[in-house]
Amino acid sequence: MFDNLTSRLSGVIKSLRGEARLTESNIQAAMREVRMALLEADVALPVIKDFIERVKQKAIGREVMESLSPGQALVGVVHQELMAIMGGEKADLNLNTVPPAVILMAGLQGAGKTTSSGKLAKWLIDNKKKKVMLVSCDIYRPAAIDQLELLSSQVGADFFPVKVGQQPAAICVAALDYARKHHHDIIIVDTAGRLGIDQAMMDEITELEVLLKPIETLFVVDAMQGQDAVNTAKAFADALPLTGVILTKLDGDARGGAALSVRHVTGKPIKFTGVAEKLTGLEPFYPDRMASRILGMGDVLGLIEEAQRSADQKEAEKLMKKMKSGKGFDLDDFKMQFQQMKKMGGMSAMLDKLPHQLTQAAQNMKVDDKIINRTEGIINAMTREERAKPELIKASRKRRIAVGSGVSVQEVNRLLSQFEQARKMMKMVNKGGMAKMMRAVKG
Ligand code: GDP
Repeated sequence: MFDNLTSRLSGVIKSLRGEARLTESNIQAAMREVRMALLEADVALPVIKDFIERVKQKAIGREVMESLSPGQALVGVVHQELMAIMGGEKADLNLNTVPPAVILMAGLQGAGKTTSSGKLAKWLIDNKKKKVMLVSCDIYRPAAIDQLELLSSQVGADFFPVKVGQQPAAICVAALDYARKHHHDIIIVDTAGRLGIDQAMMDEITELEVLLKPIETLFVVDAMQGQDAVNTAKAFADALPLTGVILTKLDGDARGGAALSVRHVTGKPIKFTGVAEKLTGLEPFYPDRMASRILGMGDVLGLIEEAQRSADQKEAEKLMKKMKSGKGFDLDDFKMQFQQMKKMGGMSAMLDKLPHQLTQAAQNMKVDDKIINRTEGIINAMTREERAKPELIKASRKRRIAVGSGVSVQEVNRLLSQFEQARKMMKMVNKGGMAKMMRAVKG
């Protein structure tokens, strides 16, 4: 899920590489792309419009921090706004009431109501150490009642036995009474769903809601249904005082639109997501984590961690000392830098994360992964003395080095001029300080 959206969005960010700042026109172009990406992901139109407007307003005129490229600055804004349309803060389950706390489950048939009731019971038993009872009001489908009974035994919850011919309202009254007597902390009430919205179903669940006074009325909805899911959620939210949403089947190939739209359209927060068929496959919903996942930022954070792990600390410190003194930066250091770049996943992986000035410098130098390897080869063909004092490398030495590393003399020249540029770049970094640069990369 989200794969397509993620790759479209990272394309937009990359397209801003090389731009000096966020302007009305480059934001406009980027937003056209973002709009397409969201449409493809099946996000509801009003949500897209609102989202784009908010991102534009925040991005235009935003002074791009010295250490951030426009792409990175835009990622920040988009991340913030993705979080905002999904509700911003994580919405916890409210269990603050005199026991038994009632959780009423609503939704269409097949959305995953019964399965989610079982999963939620398990989550509450395992994580909150609660005594939970499951109740089924789906008298129209005896199989659904049996399914819930089986789930109860699998997750270690009690199950309220229904008498033949008992109506939903009577079941609820009896279940509440039973739970009070047996000191259940929580009862989860599964209700009948239909294939589509119908008045009889709405009337029934509305009646149960009044009777049970649930602390939570959760709407269970299948993410694979995309915009239909969101429209159904809206109809339920209009008829019932919903307190939250459980979005199921996020492990499927849903395009993600429902996750992004449901909060905005219904005003109700997603509280849990179904991420697998198995009973442990229910997770609390974190808007910030979901936004990071959509932007593919999990990878970015991972890469930065990786870089910190693999960069040889001692060598880096040595290099920093030289940089600070502004003297003695030689070809061996230059080579070491390339080796570190290789460890960090190659140049292309790093470009987006470097502070803007360095990204441009690297692009001007046309550094890519192939060049990293050739550079190493050329430097390896030099003597120790030559590496320490590059100014010794005149015509005859250049010819020898070229032959030794299997390249042309021009390429040796190019490397030497790149080295000179790098020396300059080092001075630039030095001005800002390495620590500042690393903070920018991390942030
Ligand atoms: P109900 O009619 O709303 O009670 O729906 P069920 O609970 O019977 O679920 C319908 C189908 O969806 C079942 O086959 C479930 O196993 C499946 N299902 C429910 N939630 C998830 C989920 O999060 N991921 C996956 N992959 N399947 C789910």
